[in-house]
Amino acid sequence: MICKKCGIDGNFTWDQQHNENTGKWRLFDLGMERPHDCSHEKTQEASLETTTQIPRVKCPKCDPLNDSAWMEREKLQNHIKTAHFGFW
Ligand SMILES: [Zn+2]
Ligand SMILES: [Zn+2]
Repeated sequence: MICKKCGIDGNFTWDQQHNENTGKWRLFDLGMERPHDCSHEKTQEASLETTTQIPRVKCPKCDPLNDSAWMEREKLQNHIKTAHFGFW
């Protein structure tokens, strides 16, 4: 079922034990074997967005220990032509 709060589709069931204890309903994630936490899922999505915002590729010709070996995909082709042309 889909959590209506965060829209995540998971193997959820209503946590009846929690309802008996607190009078509140919450979803239990059967797949993760823990209560479903909407805020946690949101932070995971946010961190995923920031890391995938600038996709970078590593130049196969540069020193892998050098930070400058990592660049945006569009720049790599041009970089190889200008920096490593003689190695082809
Ligand atoms: Zn949720
Ligand atoms: Zn390079």
